[in-house]
Amino acid sequence: MKPTIYDLTYEQLEAWMLENGEKKFRAQQIWNWLYIQQVAEFAEMNNISKVLIEKLEAAFILSPLTQNVLQASSDGTRKYLFALNDGTLIETVLMPHKYGNSVCVTTQVGCNIGCSFCASGTLRKQRDLTAGEIMAQVMLVQRDLNTLEGEAQRVSHIVIMGIGEPFDNYDNFMDFIRIVNHPKGLAIGARHITVSTSGIVPKIRQFADEGIQVNLAISLHAPNDELRSSVMKINNAYPIPELMDAVRYYIAKTNRRITFEYIMMRGVNDQIIHARQLVKLVRGMNAYINLIPFNAVDEHGYQRSTKEDVSAFFDYLKKEKIQVMVRREFGHDIDAACGQLRAKKLESE
Ligand code: SAH
Ligand code: SF4
Repeated sequence: MKPTIYDLTYEQLEAWMLENGEKKFRAQQIWNWLYIQQVAEFAEMNNISKVLIEKLEAAFILSPLTQNVLQASSDGTRKYLFALNDGTLIETVLMPHKYGNSVCVTTQVGCNIGCSFCASGTLRKQRDLTAGEIMAQVMLVQRDLNTLEGEAQRVSHIVIMGIGEPFDNYDNFMDFIRIVNHPKGLAIGARHITVSTSGIVPKIRQFADEGIQVNLAISLHAPNDELRSSVMKINNAYPIPELMDAVRYYIAKTNRRITFEYIMMRGVNDQIIHARQLVKLVRGMNAYINLIPFNAVDEHGYQRSTKEDVSAFFDYLKKEKIQVMVRREFGHDIDAACGQLRAKKLESE
């Protein structure tokens, strides 16, 4: 199968031009057609010679995704189920905020980390997405936005929190960042990109050494090893003390604030005793805690915490001077949690 041209970083596209007997500056023209004009076909690149178009068509496909389902929520959230070329399914979500449009991308087909509360973890990983398959999600959402009436809308933020563990697909995920961040393309600033990991310690350290300003979020979800191992088996490989060391290394190296994600599960991790342990863990760190309402996943027994328990937990952290917020929910009237739409579709087949 031909790769998608979205796989190529700017430098790789320049190298491809030279290898294929073209001038290097053609890369900039093609890049402009892809990311500024946002064309859907090579044939639309009307200042490019027929010969080069034919070479590109012989070597690459443009979009590796086809849209299967689109769910639009009354709050503006749009959720896409895309099929890849091999027929596998992934999900992408557009969330409109006051500050801009944020796209949540998938990085793998399924996930091998297997967290007990997650819809994606119930389906083992079939494969990694390429950088271009991640990029294509952003481009399809942008092209969808281009068709909406009213003021022009652009994708301004990226969250890498869809299906999959990005740090288990590190090189492709990093290439994706280079492509989406490139100043001659979509130019989405590193500070507008957030990546979430279940806590793969060596990759957190590697990421700290990249020298980029992308936001890092850690899925913590439990304040002690016993509880965390029971909901996230990755904790057996990288227990909390090692994770915290890697996070401290990241903060020291990048001078950036980190986010800890904490899903509130009723009676599991949402009591004051847990809040107390959490405070001890993060005290003095340049970090904030993001409390996340649990999204019910059919086959798992968890329930979301009561409003009272969330408030009490939140107030305790506040009182202890820990930076904390409760994550806003999007698309409550559609299959909100990432992985749900795909899981449902697979079930029905
Ligand atoms: N694999 C990465 C990124 C994808 S998951 C990670 O785990 O961080 C993105 C976020 O969604 C994670 O914080 C994850 O724990 C959370 N999540 C998974 N299942 C959820 C559910 N049922 N309800 C709410 N959040 C969930
Ligand atoms: Fe994978 Fe993240 Fe889901 Fe865990 S929460 S199974 S790491 S996608």
